[in-house]
Amino acid sequence: MDAEGDFITVEEFEALCERYGKRCLRCGRGDLLLTPDHVVPLSLGGGNLISNVQPLCGGCNSWKNVKAVDYRPDAILDAGSKRAAGAPSVSLRLPAKPGENGA
Ligand SMILES: [Zn+2]
Repeated sequence: MDAEGDFITVEEFEALCERYGKRCLRCGRGDLLLTPDHVVPLSLGGGNLISNVQPLCGGCNSWKNVKAVDYRPDAILDAGSKRAAGAPSVSLRLPAKPGENGA
């Protein structure tokens, strides 16, 4: 069945595009091929889950690159980080790894 795995299905991504009007969430264009962009890049600890994905066109996806920017108006950032609802902040506080307190 649909066990929660670290992958995103085509169906999930298509449903996400539908939800946002089949537009790039950054530039708003609807005539470009949308690509799944990780809100919190995997390299920053984001999950490869639909809840961490937003539809961006190829250009915006490339532009965003490895930044953690959430363009979703109703974002539920479920990638291990918390932020105040409605705040445009993109600051990301990554949890410290246990056992690595430095000093
Ligand atoms: Zn775009």
